[in-house]
Amino acid sequence: NKEIADVLQQLGVKDKNPAYSTGLSWGGQEGGTTRSIHSPADGNLIATVHMATPEHYDKVVEAAQEAFKVWRKVPAPKRGEVVRQIGNKLREHKEALGKLVSYEMGKILQEGLGEVQEMIDICDFAVGLSRQLHGFTMHSERPEHRMYEQYHPLGVVGVISAFNFPVAVWSWNTMLAAVCGDVVIWKPSEKTPLTAIACQHIIRDALAENEIPEGVFNLIIGDAEIGSLMSHDKRVALISATGSTRMGKKVGEAVGARLGKSLLELGGNNAIILTENADLEMALNAIVFGAVGTCGQRCTSTRRLIVHESRYEQVKERLLKIYPNLPIGHPLDSTTLVGPLIDKDAVSAFNNALEKVQQEGGTLLTGGDVLSGEGYETGTYVKPAIVEAENHYEMVQEETFAPILYLIKYSGEVESAIEIQNGVRQGLSSAIFSTNLLETETFLGHWGSDCGIANVNIGTSGAEIGGAFGGEKETGGGRESGSDAWKVYMRRQTNTINYGRELPLAQGIQFKV
Ligand code: NAD
Repeated sequence: NKEIADVLQQLGVKDKNPAYSTGLSWGGQEGGTTRSIHSPADGNLIATVHMATPEHYDKVVEAAQEAFKVWRKVPAPKRGEVVRQIGNKLREHKEALGKLVSYEMGKILQEGLGEVQEMIDICDFAVGLSRQLHGFTMHSERPEHRMYEQYHPLGVVGVISAFNFPVAVWSWNTMLAAVCGDVVIWKPSEKTPLTAIACQHIIRDALAENEIPEGVFNLIIGDAEIGSLMSHDKRVALISATGSTRMGKKVGEAVGARLGKSLLELGGNNAIILTENADLEMALNAIVFGAVGTCGQRCTSTRRLIVHESRYEQVKERLLKIYPNLPIGHPLDSTTLVGPLIDKDAVSAFNNALEKVQQEGGTLLTGGDVLSGEGYETGTYVKPAIVEAENHYEMVQEETFAPILYLIKYSGEVESAIEIQNGVRQGLSSAIFSTNLLETETFLGHWGSDCGIANVNIGTSGAEIGGAFGGEKETGGGRESGSDAWKVYMRRQTNTINYGRELPLAQGIQFKV
């Protein structure tokens, strides 16, 4: 594929075992196994990568620790300047990197480009932030005393990322951590290492131009074993892990056992509530984008649609007209709205979920087929499904990372819908479609949605970087990206200074030797 070969060339990701021989702090190729990366779009081999060994990992940590000694002394606004240049390089490479994201992961090109735009946006955000890492000052209870809080860099931050946002999630963490003075070790998903390698090349140029050691931004290509080494490693001050709840429990346990810091961004089971007072035209696009966008492989994908009984048949009928006509195909084809699933395991999970939910009493209304024939030879293309179901079904309670939308009916007031929406173990994203203020405010109230994200007349997926992103319950409780999420990448210190000639104790305690 000439187009992809050009992209790999432009991004410095050459055919066989690309990046690591070029002096990245990854640690070399000796001894590890290799992994072939095939595109889910057409099954073609894109490249073969070397997987790191524990010895490679150690070298990377050592490089990161050395780089930290330099980086923490660079003033924060100057660190911001390096991030600004990285943002500019991402702008230059947006088209190529967006294409590679699309081809390696399978999301449509528009979403691949959107992902790179998100990286650019977070760079801009981090540049501004580099001059705003404020602490508070407070009045001391003692005379001639001053008190304030300041934030210091943490040290080495480990970022473990998932396949579905192969580069954006890394940038959310890394650009903030970088302006905070931390150094980062990134372990991308073993399913999507090539986009990570491309990012490392882009960054390497910016670092070299500023004479910054490469160990500030480190990449390690490995699987769960390397992720586990990172989680258990006392040298890594913070682990930011994005992925399944199963993975998050293991990482959380390992980091907790050594009393390290963790930021967990795990699975969702997101719902849209559509009330009697919803604007259906507006809602439909949000529902379909949420349910089938990225082929149902977003952490914020819409998995449940909770519809008031008065609108139920109408909503069902409209969706059943849209679903059979969704353009499913190659993600780089501009007419495609639904690309492939990441691999055949994901297809099996899709099939199993549909089978089980029907055994539990669900009714498959549309979709559910695995496509075959021309253009679909990989066996990774599926027809998005809608299933009439009840919230308590075991499969409805699970996050199946595939395009299955469960249609659930509610009756009575909005509180009944909210109870259903909250009645799952996960708590990432939620949304309500209603033009009634009483309903929307109830949904947003503290007795309303229990999720980290609650939207009104917007779907569950497609967050902006300006707000803190993350969720509650089994979603892990972490927050990253905008707002004051930066604080997790720093350690807080309270300082009290006595500029008098007496030594009064706090709380008026008298103690004289
Ligand atoms: P996954 O859990 O299989 O893998 C995620 C990452 O964790 C990979 O890099 C993997 O190598 C690593 N890993 C796996 N086991 C590990 C272990 N024991 N110790 C350390 N690292 C380990 O997830 P996936 O299939 O790549 O991604 C899909 C999942 O990610 C979904 O559940 C989705 O909801 C979730 N996700 C959440 C968010 C969010 O912000 N909340 C964003 C994107 C994806």
